[in-house]
Amino acid sequence: MSERLGEPLKAVLGARTAGGLAKLGLETVGDLVRHYPRRYDSPGTMTDIAALAVGEHVTVMAQVRSAQVRSMRSRGGAMLEAIVTDGSASLQLTFFAKRAGVLRMHEDKLRAGRTGLFTGTVGDYRGRRQLTHPDYLIVGVDAQDEDEAVLEASRPIPIYPATAAVPTWRIGRSVRTVLDPLTEADVPDPLPDEVRRERRLPTLLEALRLVHTPDDEAAWRRGRDRLRYEEAYVLQTALARRRAAHAQLRAVPRPRTTGGLAQALDARLPFPLTDAQVAVGEEIAADLSQERPMLRLLQGDVGAGKTVVALRAMAQVVDAGGQAALLAPTEVLAAQHARGLRALLGPLADGGMLTGADGATRVALLTGSLGATARRQALAEAASGAAGIVVGTHAVLGEHVQFADLGLVVVDEQHRFGVEQRDALRERGERPPHTLVMTATPIPRTVAMTVFGDLETSVLAERPAGRVEVVTHVVPADNEAWLARTWARAREEIDAGRRVYVVCPRIDADEPEPAQEADGDPDAEGTLDLDGGAEPEVPLASVAATVEALAARPELAGVTIGAMHGRLAADDKDAAMSAFASGQAPLLVSTTVIEVGVDVPEATMMVVLDAERFGISQLHQLRGRVGRSDLPSLCLLVSRAEDGTTAAERLAALAETSDGFVLAEKDLELRREGDVLGASQSGGRSSLRLLRAVRDAALIEEARVEAGAVVAADPSLAAHPTLADAVAAWLDPEREAFLERG
Ligand code: ADP
Ligand code: MG
Repeated sequence: MSERLGEPLKAVLGARTAGGLAKLGLETVGDLVRHYPRRYDSPGTMTDIAALAVGEHVTVMAQVRSAQVRSMRSRGGAMLEAIVTDGSASLQLTFFAKRAGVLRMHEDKLRAGRTGLFTGTVGDYRGRRQLTHPDYLIVGVDAQDEDEAVLEASRPIPIYPATAAVPTWRIGRSVRTVLDPLTEADVPDPLPDEVRRERRLPTLLEALRLVHTPDDEAAWRRGRDRLRYEEAYVLQTALARRRAAHAQLRAVPRPRTTGGLAQALDARLPFPLTDAQVAVGEEIAADLSQERPMLRLLQGDVGAGKTVVALRAMAQVVDAGGQAALLAPTEVLAAQHARGLRALLGPLADGGMLTGADGATRVALLTGSLGATARRQALAEAASGAAGIVVGTHAVLGEHVQFADLGLVVVDEQHRFGVEQRDALRERGERPPHTLVMTATPIPRTVAMTVFGDLETSVLAERPAGRVEVVTHVVPADNEAWLARTWARAREEIDAGRRVYVVCPRIDADEPEPAQEADGDPDAEGTLDLDGGAEPEVPLASVAATVEALAARPELAGVTIGAMHGRLAADDKDAAMSAFASGQAPLLVSTTVIEVGVDVPEATMMVVLDAERFGISQLHQLRGRVGRSDLPSLCLLVSRAEDGTTAAERLAALAETSDGFVLAEKDLELRREGDVLGASQSGGRSSLRLLRAVRDAALIEEARVEAGAVVAADPSLAAHPTLADAVAAWLDPEREAFLERG
């Protein structure tokens, strides 16, 4: 970071402007010049006014049709009413003042026929869209000098991510103020000269000028493309360095042995492994016998049978004298895994007991809410090595648990498991453990490469034989006859000895399900998809209200109904889950805590209430809770979404297919940003600003090759200090911010 770029904006622009920009997270000259325009308007192209949503903060390019000051008899004072138009729809601008004179200044500028940018929050006044006291800029009039005025009339106008306090043109002016005096020496370029030359890219300073003050469309495109390449290149350099560093690490090889736990386990599996499970098992077994620590991502759709693959790997490590840890995202899932692993192992999990088989080990469960005694025992078993397998939540196992000899870490259902968390695990002990990350969320290859550039990947493409598709229907929430049929059908399933899930978006009437489940579900996106905009008038279904409503339904008379959500104590969650699994309470009303991995083979029906509030991937995950045996299964999505909305399209896609990869593609297509790499997925980093993993796949590939070459030739990046700085900033944004401010 050069001195100029590190300069605080306060010193350059004054405290007031800097204060406004600070609200956008812009503290230094470097931050500001890297605040790229969101889009460009040209004076000739108007914003589609009809498409503006009430409540949205907008910047609109429009032409003034009329402006008139009136005095207000009833309230005293005066008001100015202007109408602006995009050629078809119109928008009203309203200004109020004590005296008419104050408003004349606006009236004078807002002359009919002039074009301007108007910014404010869209309101609705008697069915008409309006902006009250909008900030505005009249093209060719508000420019600060003559030259600027002439240019402005023909140039693309950058529209910046802005706030109500700082409109886009004030940001634009500030950017120009800091950008104008910069020289090449002030703006060191992370892209090596040879890369830039070969690809004929402008320098960083040139690119910044191109995106902030373009003469025409070709100019900003050229600048943007270069900045996009830089992003891909820095990212890939960081990943290449991680790979190189990883290759230096030495793990303890845990090769296959005969006559131990692994073989005994295979002999007692209640089903034949699928070909895919066998093939992936071989890959993992080979990885584990290497000195290089395994770092593998196992993708497999819900129900593909990832758990048994993991268990076989764990058994191999136990046979080789090591321990394995299985990390689950929630306590429910951790408890279920512990139960499931013990069931698969049978007497093989009774190590140290009379019932224990030869080569047997123990499975310890460690979660945040264990009682003191159970916790002490689990910790002791982990520390002594008595427990070959330790199951827990990410939160618990991430920290102070001592292992006798941790050889393998399996991370379940957590494709966002960040680089930092993996590092923390890798850094414990002198020898890092082997790592297996499992996910049911299909990750397009390019995304996997971008985020997990340092992982090998395996795919379980085949589902266990005999599985039936889950039949999925969308049920309109206002069709009472269909709803009655839904509950009657639930009753039939229950009478046949099956289980039914009912999923609601909320815990109780006044409180939404917290974005973060009490037991640490980190999937913020996974809570509610609110792109429906305004709150619906009908309250969302809650667990509390639904339990009550269902208890009163004649179709369900006599059925014991359980309830489950993130705010329950761990014991109560466990109790609810076991009552459901055993059939004591065969109908479970729950929030999305059951989303990942919960496995009750007798569950054959799921009803999702207010299904339009959930995203595709989340519904796909939820639906994976049924259809887990050869029993025909049913998923009903109860929805209030109107035809033609994105929400309705999402649900239609789910009803049409259960192929996770097809749904992931559909999801990408329906998302406005077309981006699955939100801040949460890139590990909380906002560094990917221009790059989109799917759209820019080819670019990312190229950058990967070129960055790999640079790192191979210069592993420490000694000859590329600016690139090294950019990589460090990518890896540690907090430290960077700290240094810049300090
Ligand atoms: P996921 O990949 O979603 O984690 P699980 O590992 O929970 O799936 O497996 C889903 C269910 O399928 C479990 O009940 C498991 O015992 C069962 N299963 C796993 N492999 C097979 C197989 N090869 N044949 C039949 N059932 C299997
Ligand atoms: Mg699973």
